[in-house]
Amino acid sequence: MAKVLAIGPYADIDAQALRDDFAALPLADAADVAGLSADQRDKVVAVAFLGHKGMSAAVMDQLPNLRFITNFGVGYDAIDIAGADARGIRVTNTPNVLNDDVADLAVAMLISENRRMSAAETWMRAGEWAKGPEYPLQRKMSGRKVGILGLGRIGREIADRLAAFRTQIHYFSRSDKQVAGWTWHDDPVALAHAVDDLVIAVVGGPDTTGIVSAKVIKALGPDGIIVNIARGSVIDETALLDALEAGRLRGAALDVFLNEPRPDPRFFALKNATLLPHVGSATQETRRAMGELQRRNLRLLLDGEQPETPVN
Ligand code: NAP
Repeated sequence: MAKVLAIGPYADIDAQALRDDFAALPLADAADVAGLSADQRDKVVAVAFLGHKGMSAAVMDQLPNLRFITNFGVGYDAIDIAGADARGIRVTNTPNVLNDDVADLAVAMLISENRRMSAAETWMRAGEWAKGPEYPLQRKMSGRKVGILGLGRIGREIADRLAAFRTQIHYFSRSDKQVAGWTWHDDPVALAHAVDDLVIAVVGGPDTTGIVSAKVIKALGPDGIIVNIARGSVIDETALLDALEAGRLRGAALDVFLNEPRPDPRFFALKNATLLPHVGSATQETRRAMGELQRRNLRLLLDGEQPETPVN
């Protein structure tokens, strides 16, 4: 009987590896744990988890011998870490191997929304080019003042890339990272006041919910663009939608939403937004590296060793 559960919508290659290497039992969703027999649940010592919600303390309690949760992804806001701590469950994630992809995408999104690339393509595909005046002039991205909200691993990669576009870098973090030439702000509103555009790379979870508040959006102002590659929860989504609809914010480029995979339908009507379906790390190379790191962590934990990338 399986000691390992593989919970989540794994790609075939990862599902196969989890089966081959760990005889893992696949489950589509954390809610499916409740459907296992008590005997099956007793045997489980590890969960290889992939998903954006559901690994709650209640699910942990359904697995009385659970000792390890290895997350596929760097963001682990789907896992109740305090609940895991309280139950002595070790948690791991997959940092760093996805930094390039997420940072590349964030920069592409910032350029795309400044130049309205998505809207221009829609306009062209609709046959507008031959009909009349040219596509309206848009705005230059190089040289703007960009704020990074959360200068962690990914935030730093984004800032390094943006520096090559001669942007002035400002950032919010809980401490001054002492980077020469970059300006630290100890408050997200102060950061938003100081910059033209804002790129969000902070962690998700209860501590950062709504950190991009109506006040932050107002401080950015009607010429500002928000790029979010972090989590939907970090933005007050209603305030964001209201501001975009009213033209109180120039635009937004969003890879993450509160209600994935069914974002608020108000987003779909916006002409001043670039919308992506949570694809920050979605390349073959990076997903392969994430799967391999998840499985190395799982192997180490099951062998009684220290994992490569522990969360707790
Ligand atoms: P990281 O290195 O841990 O950086 C996290 C940043 O969040 C740091 O700047 C940190 O601030 C800040 N932070 C943490 N707790 C905070 C709190 N309570 N209040 C304010 N700021 C706080 O994480 P990372 O590897 O860069 O990943 C960042 C996030 O990106 C992930 O958690 C995930 O949600 C998201 N992500 C999205 C995708 C995607 O597909 N779109 C892919 C990968 C990751 P300090 O500098 O002050 O410590």
